[in-house]
Amino acid sequence: MNDDAEHPLLKPAWRCRTCGIAWPCSVAKLRLLGRYHGRPDELIEHLETLQTEATEDLTRLYGGKTPDGLTGRFVGWVKARQPTHSRPGADSSSPGVDRPGRAHPSKDVRVAPVHGRRGGAPAPEE
Ligand SMILES: [Zn+2]
Repeated sequence: MNDDAEHPLLKPAWRCRTCGIAWPCSVAKLRLLGRYHGRPDELIEHLETLQTEATEDLTRLYGGKTPDGLTGRFVGWVKARQPTHSRPGADSSSPGVDRPGRAHPSKDVRVAPVHGRRGGAPAPEE
């Protein structure tokens, strides 16, 4: 599996070879999100490893000066994309939505009295 082939990471400059911009470019980000779908922790771990590597390379490249913004570039965008856990009308993932003890619809059927005593009719039953 080599799905970074179209937007490969070019070391030690840490640029996308296709876009020429700082890696990960937006395409590379989308690929990472797709590959680590549902596993944001693993993705962040992976990017933190890359960031450590990039920091070493770039610091050497910049003559011993560490460039700014590497955390935001490598890890920050993932955290910014994390869905907030307070979505209204959330799906099955949020507890408490599917409440037990819902009323059975059949209980709503009211049986009409066939021979009811209505009004003030005296019903002598003793
Ligand atoms: Zn690219």
